[in-house]
Amino acid sequence: MTASVKISLPNGLNYDQPTGLFIDNKFIAGNGEKFTVYNPATEEEIITLQGASEADIDKAVAAARRAFEGEWSELETKDRGALIYKLAELIERDRKLLASIDSFDNGKSFADAYGLDLLESYNVFRYYAGTADKIMGKTIETGPTKLAYVLQEPLGVCGQIIPWNYPFMMLAWKIAPALACGNTVVLKPAEQTPLSALYFGNLVAEAGFPPGVVNIVPGLGGVAGKALASHMDVDKIAFTGSTATGKAIMKSAASNLKNITLECGGKSPCIIFDDADLDQAVKWSHGGIMDNMGQVCTSTSRICVQDTIYDKFLEKFTQRTKELASKIGDPFHEDTYQGPQVSKAQFDRVLGYIEEGKKSGARLLHGGAKHGDKGYFIQPTIFADTTEDMKIVKEEIFGPVVAISKFSTEAEAIAKANDTSYGLAAAVFTQRVARAHKVARKLQAGMVFINSSGDSHFGIPFGGYKSSGIGRELGQYALDAYTQSKAVHINLGTEL
Ligand code: NAD
Repeated sequence: MTASVKISLPNGLNYDQPTGLFIDNKFIAGNGEKFTVYNPATEEEIITLQGASEADIDKAVAAARRAFEGEWSELETKDRGALIYKLAELIERDRKLLASIDSFDNGKSFADAYGLDLLESYNVFRYYAGTADKIMGKTIETGPTKLAYVLQEPLGVCGQIIPWNYPFMMLAWKIAPALACGNTVVLKPAEQTPLSALYFGNLVAEAGFPPGVVNIVPGLGGVAGKALASHMDVDKIAFTGSTATGKAIMKSAASNLKNITLECGGKSPCIIFDDADLDQAVKWSHGGIMDNMGQVCTSTSRICVQDTIYDKFLEKFTQRTKELASKIGDPFHEDTYQGPQVSKAQFDRVLGYIEEGKKSGARLLHGGAKHGDKGYFIQPTIFADTTEDMKIVKEEIFGPVVAISKFSTEAEAIAKANDTSYGLAAAVFTQRVARAHKVARKLQAGMVFINSSGDSHFGIPFGGYKSSGIGRELGQYALDAYTQSKAVHINLGTEL
């Protein structure tokens, strides 16, 4: 057993933070590069961890392989489901602690971490616990002398690489379906937010999973992540993060032609027609970009408003932004809406885009600078009159920065919305049902929100078109992503 470190959280909770790698149900020392985890609200160091080296990844993959070929595959599916259900119960039991840990190293408000992320996380485990004994094959009629049936089998060892914007929830989205389908996993959390994933190792052991079924390997993307993605004994790689890293992972995964699921970035449009309920459109489009400090892959960061209501919309949107800008601060304060960006790197990156926006000729309506003297806080920033050639319109900023422009016709709105290499999500605000459906069909996006934003549900597929990714997570779709089909042909006849 490696050491753990006692951590006192800002809300008074104390706990033992494991500091090693979780392999074979034990915490062992990592041998890779060290990295430091910070509290982005104060810029103070929380802990320095030793990440996984390439050899450590070999160890984790070997443990996952042993488990896959051993006890885990022998379990009846109802028992597999029961273990996953137990995990859901333990997550619910430790919900407050896990939410506090995510708020501490990520900077998101405790209210969101508790009310959204952790609630979703144990519900995802419960959902997939129920699917473990409902993964069905098929029989297919071909004629009287042959019988063919299709088995839906697990893939084997799944490597999973997750980002920092929803630390625990991304773990839940990845691990729960993989286990339900009978796979074993090696998961690498983001280096900015590895703490709740490591703590989760305790829960895996407590639930009674056989050793090696779940392994958690914190470490650097270019070392631990790369080693996992290129490993010759890993059967699948599932990734959420930037499109650039998604492309690198795809290359690494080519080593043994791994099955891949990529959930990458976005620059999602939000179209507001003049027949929309304007107050609702303001409320949802504001949340669509400003929630979670703009660090959401489905953020609707490009708002396109019909010219007839453009000025009115700008006035109301700026007013709402002003009101909620008064709630920037300590993530643990119950009234906080906006915490800091996750890291110094993201803080600098977002401020860089804001400067770029100012130079581009866009009209700055709100914000445009950092907030306060300590912590990675950024004023919610609104740029109006933006054009498609601007960097702040083309590139994913992943911060509280919105680009607003106007259109006059429905065709123009659709063309603007689709004028991007991304295709994750899109929002449409209109009271006309026929228009909503018509526009939804024309949008090149994996998810469309009608009169809302940022929707997701564990029963509904999540993923993108174009450069926003490959494959789908959640719902029954994830069961396809974590299984493979085996066709068995039986000859029932005796004649050639
Ligand atoms: P990233 O894509 O670099 O990191 C995500 C994960 O991939 C982390 O666990 C990281 O360690 C790992 N990783 C990095 N390089 C790797 C490699 N070569 N091989 C294997 N794994 C690797 O994201 P980031 O640098 O933390 O953030 C940069 C940008 O990514 C953000 O500004 C945002 O645009 C985007 N992002 C998107 C999402 C999303 O949900 N779609 C989440 C986080 C970040």
